[in-house]
Amino acid sequence: MNYLPLCLKLDDKPCLVVGAGAVGARKIAYLRHSGARVVVVAPTLSEDVLAQVADADGITLHQRAFRERDITGKQLVIAASSSPDVNAEVARLCRASGVPVNVVDDTDACTFVVPAVIHRGPVQVAISTGGASPVLARTLKMRLESYIPSAYGDLASLVQRYRQAVKHAFHAVRERKHFWERVLEGPIAELVFAGRLTEAEHSLKAAVANPQSASQEQGEVYLVGAGPGDPDLLTLRALRLMQQADVVVYDRLVSPPIIDMVRANAQRIYAGKKKSDHAIPQGGINALLVQLAREGKRVLRLKGGDPFIFGRGGEEIQTLIDEGVAFQIVPGVTAASGCATYSGIPLTHRDHSQACIFVTGHLKDGTSDLNWDMLANEQQTVVFYMGLQGVDVICRELIAHGRKATTPAALIQQGTTPSHRVLIGDLNSLPALVRSNDVRAPTLIIVGEVVSLHEKLKWFRPGEELIAPAVRDMHDYFEHSHKRHKS
Ligand code: SAH
Repeated sequence: MNYLPLCLKLDDKPCLVVGAGAVGARKIAYLRHSGARVVVVAPTLSEDVLAQVADADGITLHQRAFRERDITGKQLVIAASSSPDVNAEVARLCRASGVPVNVVDDTDACTFVVPAVIHRGPVQVAISTGGASPVLARTLKMRLESYIPSAYGDLASLVQRYRQAVKHAFHAVRERKHFWERVLEGPIAELVFAGRLTEAEHSLKAAVANPQSASQEQGEVYLVGAGPGDPDLLTLRALRLMQQADVVVYDRLVSPPIIDMVRANAQRIYAGKKKSDHAIPQGGINALLVQLAREGKRVLRLKGGDPFIFGRGGEEIQTLIDEGVAFQIVPGVTAASGCATYSGIPLTHRDHSQACIFVTGHLKDGTSDLNWDMLANEQQTVVFYMGLQGVDVICRELIAHGRKATTPAALIQQGTTPSHRVLIGDLNSLPALVRSNDVRAPTLIIVGEVVSLHEKLKWFRPGEELIAPAVRDMHDYFEHSHKRHKS
C-alpha cells in the first residue's frame, strides 16, 4: 500500500487527540510542532500531558469520555486511547464524516499514518514505511539524523531570507539554480556548518550583490583526519566532506576501504608518504592543494589518524593561509587512541599511569634527538609513532635512562583494521619479538604498566571468517588498492 506524502499546513487549526497517556502525550507534541491547536479528550490525564500543558499554549484539555461531536470542525484526529473500543469508535465516526484519522497501532483503521520526522528548523525529513514497521522508520531516522548536520536548519533559514534578493539578481531559472547549488554545497554552507553564521551571511550577501564574481567558483580545502583504519571510526563531518569533494589527495596511511567511501567520481591523487615512496614531496603537496582550490575545486586532503598529530597538517594549513585559500580542518582518531582502545590498553589508569606522551620514534641521527630522561619516568605511558625501525634504540635508551627492563611494552600492527595484531613483551624482549615475527607497517609502540592490562581487557579479535581471502593480508590490500587508485 502506497501513501501520498504531504506536508500539511496546520498553523492554529484545531486538531483532536483522544487519549492522554504516554502515547497521547507524544502525539500532542507532534501536532504542536506544526503550530496546530490541540484539543485533548481523555477521562484520565497522564503526568506527561499535564507537563506539556503547563509548558505550552494551544492545548485544551477535556477530562471526560469522548463524544461524537468532539470531531466536529477538526482538521484531523488521532485516536490514542488505551481502549481499542474507543479508538474504533473514533475511527468509524471520522471516516463517516471525512475527517482524516490516525489510530495508534491499528494501520487498517487509519486514513493517514504518522511518519518519523527529523527536524532541522524549517527542514523536515519524514520517513514512512506505510505502517509496515514503525521501528524500521525509527531506525532509518537514527541513521539519517547522524548524516544531516544539525546546522541544516540555520542554512535553510539563511537561504530563505535571501530567496527574493536572488530572484532579482538572477533572472534565468538555470542561473538561479546554479547559484543556489554553489551556495548549498560550497564554502558558504560550510561556514554555516562550522557555526560561523555572520561570515556566512556576509559572503552570501556579497555573492548576491555581485553576481559576476559569484559565478567565479571558489575552491576550498578540507583537511580531514581519516582515523587509523577502521572506516567506522570516521567522524560524521569527515564522511560528509568525503562525499562532496571534487578531488581527494590522500596518503598511504589512509585505509583503502575509506578511500572507497570518497565520492565515486572524485578525482583521486595519491600523495605517497613512506620513506621510500614519496610520490609527491611535501612542498609539492602544499602547492598542489593551492592550485586545485584555485581551480575552484573542493579539495579533500585526507590523512591517516589526526592531521595535527605527526601529520604535517600545520604546514599544509600555513601554506593555505599564506595563499588566502579557504579551508577547514576535521580531527580524526589518532593511531594512539585507536590502537590502544582496540587492544584493550587504556592509555592512562589511576593505578598505573597519570600521563601519556606521544612521541616520534623516527630518530634522525641515532639516539640524540629525544629527551630520554623525561621519557624514562615511571607512572606514564609513552606512545611511539613511526618507531618500528628504531625499536632497538627506543628500548635500549629507555632502560639506559632508568626505566625498568621489565616495563611492559606492546607493538600494535595495522591497528583497528582486519589485520590488527598485538605483540606483547617488555623493554627487554620487544626488539627480539619484533625480529621473530613478520611485522608490517604501520605499527605503534606503547610502553608502560598499562600494557599489562591487555591480557584482561582485550576484546577486539578481527575474525578470519569476516575477511575475504583476497584481502586477508591487509598489507597486500593496501599495496594493491593504492596501485589501483594510482593507475
Ligand atoms: N597522523 C597520524 C600519524 C601519522 S605518523 C595519526 O594521528 O595517527 C605515521 C605513524 O602513525 C605510523 O608510523 C604508525 O606509527 C602510526 N600509525 C598510523 N596508523 C596506524 C595503525 N593503523 N596502526 C598502527 N600504527 C599506526
